[in-house]
Amino acid sequence: MFGFKSFADKTEIEFTNGISALLGPNGCGKSNVVDAIKWVLGEQATRSLRAEKMEDIIFNGTEDRKALNVAEVTLTLENDEDLVQVDAPELSVKRRLFRSGESEYYLNNTPVKLKELRELFLDTGIGKSAYSIMEQGKIDQILSTKPEERRYIFEEAASITKYKVKGQEAERKLRRTDENIRQVESILSEVK
Ligand code: ATP
Repeated sequence: MFGFKSFADKTEIEFTNGISALLGPNGCGKSNVVDAIKWVLGEQATRSLRAEKMEDIIFNGTEDRKALNVAEVTLTLENDEDLVQVDAPELSVKRRLFRSGESEYYLNNTPVKLKELRELFLDTGIGKSAYSIMEQGKIDQILSTKPEERRYIFEEAASITKYKVKGQEAERKLRRTDENIRQVESILSEVK
């Protein structure tokens, strides 16, 4: 992390196998670490990042330190189990935001679109709304009495989210095509 919320300086945190716990006094930045992970995985909802506008995630200065103009988070994951379709032993996802509003995503240092990142992580359990990040709200989701909400978690674990998303995209395309056909038919009938 660099310039992300309270992390003005470059900060590296290593999560090894097993359970890692972040300990520290109130307000020291524990939740900001979780926010950073969600953000780098493409979180767009400012509320979920406890910010009013996206710019609020950039270090906004302290009494003796100037605000920064850019925030950057890189998440590096081992890929030795071929979790995702990338031919590399490590996977590094980077997101950068400038105060001007300009935003960039990188996968192994190559610029990518957010959509590509999302597709890559579908069904892996990794993602801003996947079950790798277990926040309080997520526990509520599992315990929810609404079966559709609970089903989302199982669908991700059963690796069918990808197909569902592709199905929805195909349905959208079909609707657009239907609309186009209707327009062409109406033009044809006018020409006749
Ligand atoms: P708690 O134990 O009370 O939940 P925490 O350790 O989880 O606290 P965080 O909520 O992660 O703490 O961090 C809050 C701190 O982050 C506050 O001091 C806040 O001022 C600081 N902070 C948040 N956004 C920014 C920003 N853009 N620039 C600088 N500091 C920020």
